[in-house]
Amino acid sequence: MQGVGFRPFIFRLAVKHGLSGEVDNRTDGVAVIVQGDLRTIDKFSNDILKCAPPASQIKSIQVNPKAIEGYKSFSIVKSRVIDDLITEISPDIAVCPDCLSDLSADTGRLNYPFINCTNCGPRFSIISRLPYDRAQTSMNGFRMCTRCSAEYNDILDRRFHAQPIACNECGPRYLLRSTSGEISDFDKILEEIAGQIVAGKTVALKGTGGYFLVCDALQNEAVTRLRDKKHRDQKPFAVMFRDIASVKEFCNADRNELKELTSWRRPVVILRQKKVLAESVSNGLRTTGAILPYMPVHYLLFRLLKTPAIVMTSGNISGEPIITGDAEASVKLGSVADSIVGYNREILNRVDDSVVRVINGGISLIRRSRGFVPRPVDLALDAEGILAMGAEEKNSFCIGKGRQAIMSQYTGDLKDRETTCFYKESIGRFSELFSFSPAFIAADLHPDYYSTVYGKELAERMKIPFTGVQHHHAHIASCMAENGLDEKVIGISLDGTGFGTDGRIWGGEFLIVDFEDYFRYTHFDYVPMPGGEKAVTEPWRMAFSYMFKYFGDTIDYNKIPAFKSHNPGSLPLLKEMIIKNINSPESSGAGRLFDAVSALAGLCTISRFDSEAPMRLESSTGSGIESYYPYTFGKTIIFADTLKGIIVDLYDKEIPLISAKFHNTVSRVVLEAAERIRNEAGLNKVVLSGGVFQNKYLLEKSFGLLTKSKFEVFTNRLVPANDGGISLGQLVVASKKAKYVSEHSGKNNIN
Ligand code: ZN
Ligand code: ZN
Ligand code: FE
Repeated sequence: MQGVGFRPFIFRLAVKHGLSGEVDNRTDGVAVIVQGDLRTIDKFSNDILKCAPPASQIKSIQVNPKAIEGYKSFSIVKSRVIDDLITEISPDIAVCPDCLSDLSADTGRLNYPFINCTNCGPRFSIISRLPYDRAQTSMNGFRMCTRCSAEYNDILDRRFHAQPIACNECGPRYLLRSTSGEISDFDKILEEIAGQIVAGKTVALKGTGGYFLVCDALQNEAVTRLRDKKHRDQKPFAVMFRDIASVKEFCNADRNELKELTSWRRPVVILRQKKVLAESVSNGLRTTGAILPYMPVHYLLFRLLKTPAIVMTSGNISGEPIITGDAEASVKLGSVADSIVGYNREILNRVDDSVVRVINGGISLIRRSRGFVPRPVDLALDAEGILAMGAEEKNSFCIGKGRQAIMSQYTGDLKDRETTCFYKESIGRFSELFSFSPAFIAADLHPDYYSTVYGKELAERMKIPFTGVQHHHAHIASCMAENGLDEKVIGISLDGTGFGTDGRIWGGEFLIVDFEDYFRYTHFDYVPMPGGEKAVTEPWRMAFSYMFKYFGDTIDYNKIPAFKSHNPGSLPLLKEMIIKNINSPESSGAGRLFDAVSALAGLCTISRFDSEAPMRLESSTGSGIESYYPYTFGKTIIFADTLKGIIVDLYDKEIPLISAKFHNTVSRVVLEAAERIRNEAGLNKVVLSGGVFQNKYLLEKSFGLLTKSKFEVFTNRLVPANDGGISLGQLVVASKKAKYVSEHSGKNNIN
């Protein structure tokens, strides 16, 4: 792993043990030559495992004994551009404890906000080209002072070869801009930011991978004002807590959650709420997206603040990518923030904060970005030259380098024009960074996804083959790939949407899958979506559609709370759309069923942000409830009895019970489908993927039922179960096709 101080670490270790030799970064890892007696070398290699830098990742150590002589000392082989480029660039690393204490001890770096060392600091966000050397990063404009230079060259120093090394004299600086002018003195900047936060104002603060908008998370007026200015963005805001104690005051966090919160990756971790911050932070959801400080400036700022928590949300206009440029920030965030605090080092690779949730004791990624990208996923097969375009929402793309898949950072929703620019730019950046040239392109089957259209365009322009991969095939394949499975499995994809081969929308899919192909064993019932896309943002439409499909005119819809309060004239209109099949595509999406139930329960009839309805439904589940509703297993899975049960319960039962029973029902369906497939096809491995499985209650319940029934169950850990992980699935499915193409065409089409 480059950029995590591994070579200097090896150097210091060799010196400590009195060994001579050299260390070299190579494509297949780090090569160390040590000359000395075998016992010392043995101790040396044990120490490598014991004391490796936190962000390094040792997969294995191979020792090849050989008689050598002639090394007089130990040295690091200077990095050089090699043909077969190293694919492992380090993700950005949160500031380390040593650097934090240096903030008050190192005279050249007192309160210096860009302090870093070989164990911490920016990496992926500042690199433009390999190898990872200062000249190839956005530090290249900063000339090291004599002191930094001495440390950089002192092998025994913690900052030896720390590429972004800097100090108060020679490194990057913050600059605050507001209507009342500019401030360049850092202490004054901090005072000003703190003052504005206390006064309920919003500050745009440049982070590691982009700008963030910051305000006091305990002042509801400030948070509401920020929401209004951010263009009606109703998504829950992530919150940066001062420290662990503050997290524990407001959230419930178990051991695994605390481990993620404090890891060097520093993601946002979704936690259960204990105490409400400002009401508007989570907008009624009972979870909080918590993050701990990861840049020196965050720590320094909290020193001046009394509040235990500040909102830390992406600096963008709703739907657009996070802003990285200082000029763009002035233009676009000028009306949102009261001051803009940037710094004079360019962010070359935009990275949002990653978002994770702990499910079943391990992490489940919701957004894979800072701290994770561009760490590769190891594959059991060769994916060289494949470019997988991803899906539409929460897009990421993925490139194949040998037996490694390198997935891009979260790029966002490709319906947004700015996001498509970022997407294309990132594909270009990855190609350069990893000296990658696509030989085969894979994309979704959806003809209108921007990723599909652009993938086809690229394939045509480059005269290389193109293949479409079914959306749910890709979801399941993503999970198989990261779990090292290459065989026939039971694949269950519970998801929102996915282009189906019968012209309908799929998303409640029970499949028999291998990388080559899939067989659709059964699926959730098809239900019309009156209004198309509108039925996604207005869950009451789905509630009506489900009810009307199963019960027609036999019930009085006006008595159901979800419809009672809602546009009196609109029900007959919806009915007509459905009957006459006007703009009412049919969907088997599990997401739509969750939408419908959430609306029926009165939790969310109009959705103000992505997945609000299912999130509110999950958020309202009671604990310790084992009962469930009936359903019918026909040619498809029919939820008529489920909905009937819910309607009856709505008269005299509490929502937490109804919600838990509904979730239990879906888990039962998952179990029964898996058992049916096992009986017929003799398969015992179940792979769960798709965005609906980000639901902690549902995934844990399904996992529990399946393992109790002796299934081997696999879930996504390294890439998201939502559409953010789909490019990995496309890549591995394509890799099998690539093999087919090269084996059957007589010549190697793929290169
Ligand atoms: Zn450090
Ligand atoms: Zn310096
Ligand atoms: Fe999906």
